Amino acid sequence: MNFEISLDIQDVKIKHVKKRKNGDIIIYVKSTVNEAFCRECNRKIDKCHGFDKEITLRHLSILGKKTYIRISPARYKCLLCNNKPTTTQKLSWYKQRSPNTKAYEEHVLLQTVNSTIEDTSIKENLGYEAVTGIINRYIECKVDWDSIKKLETVGLDEISLKKGHKDFVTIVTSRTGEEVIILAVLKDRKKATVKRFLQTIPERLIKTIKFVCSDMYDGFVNAAKEVISENIVVIDRFHVAKLYRKCIDDLRKKELKRLKAELT
Ligand SMILES: [Zn+2]
Repeated sequence: MNFEISLDIQDVKIKHVKKRKNGDIIIYVKSTVNEAFCRECNRKIDKCHGFDKEITLRHLSILGKKTYIRISPARYKCLLCNNKPTTTQKLSWYKQRSPNTKAYEEHVLLQTVNSTIEDTSIKENLGYEAVTGIINRYIECKVDWDSIKKLETVGLDEISLKKGHKDFVTIVTSRTGEEVIILAVLKDRKKATVKRFLQTIPERLIKTIKFVCSDMYDGFVNAAKEVISENIVVIDRFHVAKLYRKCIDDLRKKELKRLKAELT
């Protein structure tokens, strides 16, 4: 049986698809965007000047198989600059020098919410460094607010970057209905950082926020209360569950210690 699924990538044409012996899927594509912006004068240029070396980007898995997109990025020449420089076309669906498509990176970022980097790394069959690389590439990226219609539930989650809980980043998400998107990755979990980010949300979108869902960390709760509204913060059920599990767990440990001391 055949069926079609969307690649979730804009402006590309599939040239052909290859299946590796190990099941991996390689999709060869060509961009249908026929222009670039000169890296020196920033003017729009459309004089094609060959192609860069082929690159392979990890993309969202298809039927559980690792899937890769392969493309030769086009180069364009600027005829208006004196030295006629060439510029490699930048496409909206991947960041230059990233080994993954944006859709895949966002998928991995979402996996880290309410989870850990180790677990995400195992689930995705990606190295620990590859997951932290994705997180690092998203830190302090500008949000394209114009592309967002409403925010509804804003999630603030801290993710530990290093084993040993030394360094944290904050992942900011938005859930509307069943859809969850990554809004931003903030460089730490300080109240000032979260507050500064929340203040960049346009007024039009602030009005669409119904809840702010956060772990119980004071910095998040207070930042959200100060910027958005006093009564908008709800505590993430995962964190509440963790807290009352912790009481039981502490009791279990205490009892075990007591019994070990008392019994032979
Ligand atoms: Zn130019």
